[in-house]
Amino acid sequence: MDVKCPQCSSHQVVEGKIYNQIDYVAPRAYFRPGGLKPFSFLGVNVRLENRFFACINCGFLWSKIDIAQLIRILKESGTPQTKKRLGFNEEE
Ligand SMILES: [Zn+2]
Repeated sequence: MDVKCPQCSSHQVVEGKIYNQIDYVAPRAYFRPGGLKPFSFLGVNVRLENRFFACINCGFLWSKIDIAQLIRILKESGTPQTKKRLGFNEEE
């Protein structure tokens, strides 16, 4: 595995899972982006694969997400400020 830390570019990286408690893998974790309109609750979560990476050089922890789902959520439910900041045109 040759994974590079996105923060410090170190290759001293380990792969692992997130646990809710000792020996209890998180059953279902979701990412809900910030910058959504108030009261946005339905269809605003992206399921996370429980596969994370940690850098032993700087402590950065990261994972990957389904960007198609994330972009759909932000286009549908993002505030005008969020959409503008991310470069989404209102006509889309
Ligand atoms: Zn690092």
